[in-house]
Amino acid sequence: MKLFNTQTGQKETFTPIEPGKVKMYACGPTVYDYIHVGNARPVILFDVLRRYMEWRGYDVTFVQNFTDVDDKIINRANEEGVSCDTITERFIREYYTDAKGLGVRPATIHPKATEHIDGMIAATQTLIDKGYAYALGEGDVYYRTAAFADYGKLSGQSLDDLKAGARVDVDTGKENPMDFALWKSAKPGEPSWPSPWGEGRPGWHIECSVMASELLGKTIDIHAGGQDLTFPHHENEVAQSEALNGCTFAHYWLHNGFLSIDNKKMSKSLGNFFTVRDAAEAYGYDAIRMFMLMSHYRSPLNYSGEILVQSKAGLERLYTAVENLEFLSKHATTTELTVEEQTLLDSLTTYKTRFIEAMDDDFNTADGIAVIFEMIREINGATAAEKTLSQPFVEGCLAAIRELTDILGLLYAMPNQADDLDTQGEALIAARQEARANKNWAESDRIRDELKDMGILLEDTPQGIKWKKA
Ligand code: AMP
Ligand code: ZN
Repeated sequence: MKLFNTQTGQKETFTPIEPGKVKMYACGPTVYDYIHVGNARPVILFDVLRRYMEWRGYDVTFVQNFTDVDDKIINRANEEGVSCDTITERFIREYYTDAKGLGVRPATIHPKATEHIDGMIAATQTLIDKGYAYALGEGDVYYRTAAFADYGKLSGQSLDDLKAGARVDVDTGKENPMDFALWKSAKPGEPSWPSPWGEGRPGWHIECSVMASELLGKTIDIHAGGQDLTFPHHENEVAQSEALNGCTFAHYWLHNGFLSIDNKKMSKSLGNFFTVRDAAEAYGYDAIRMFMLMSHYRSPLNYSGEILVQSKAGLERLYTAVENLEFLSKHATTTELTVEEQTLLDSLTTYKTRFIEAMDDDFNTADGIAVIFEMIREINGATAAEKTLSQPFVEGCLAAIRELTDILGLLYAMPNQADDLDTQGEALIAARQEARANKNWAESDRIRDELKDMGILLEDTPQGIKWKKA
């Protein structure tokens, strides 16, 4: 499998540190509000990368943190007159609701920054001891970027260039404008922890360095996040972790492209955002997931109502194909696979091969989905005619679709009609069949109406009665 590594600017063959195992870290949301559709992009994409690697046989440990100490959280808590914990607990809950709705599996571990404060203090002290950090009189500790020779290597910039472009904060007392806070002294009313430098709280970057090393180890396989995190967040994580541990922090750096509206990055600060909750209400969570996977993770992606409607329509085609096959399987009258059917089933493996090729080529879900749709077109063609199909054939088609769609997590929201249909509905359908067999059309129509009132629509087809939830 090849992955595009931001650090080298190239697609590289993925080789794990430990054979068969993947240690992966993704920067998660700051929990001060509902996540917006832009935030959902990395959440969905890296869920799929993890699923794909698991399907390829890797044992994946996936850590995605919650940043639960931050100015934005403090501001919101002050606005609402509640504690920071009240805000973070609420929005962690809301995050899980959205993630579940989007078909995103929980990470192996979802650490909160505030659970690792001791480690952050220890890391900051070690950086000071090693000469990579300095404390100022007010209780702030800064990372000394000039001490880390490789500073800028992830984002491909030199410290001198960065310095030239930096805004100089005259009153911080920093040695270099690029130096960043490892520990911030507490202001009144802010959450704080005791430390050798007085009451304070950690800077954002040290959180991820510490959580990654405590939960995954000093060197990890994959570090992921949105493109905006490359600099300064991930650059600073590299500087901290490598100075601390004296080894490479992450072998592969993966960054998703921006989700935009009218070609502007969707962000809270610009106010041009839709929450996942609102978008899901309008188009369905499953449509959002489909939309994200229909383009390559590194491409820019423009959000619009139309594209969500199109994504939903694509998904519906998938659902319909599966529903038809489920129906055909239930009503198949033969278990004998014909030679023709066997040939077709064999040919479906070429789609799987092509799907793997797409996913192995820097995790190209867009091409992967295109292959799935080609396969569905062929299956639809083979099952459309009013001929008798054997059950193993229909099941084989279903299995081929399910195997690939499960990797992308596409069918999770498909209404499982067979499970939903309660016994009363089943009994009514049976009664209507009997009425029809007796040519009792009035009774048959009455039952059809009764089912309609229950939200079940019937369709008479050559293969028998099909039903749908209205
Ligand atoms: P934040 O809560 O702003 O730190 O963002 C959480 C995650 O969402 C990070 O990985 C960001 O890079 C990512 N993110 C934020 N906005 C966008 C966007 N418009 N498009 C893609 N990813 C985004
Ligand atoms: Zn991070």
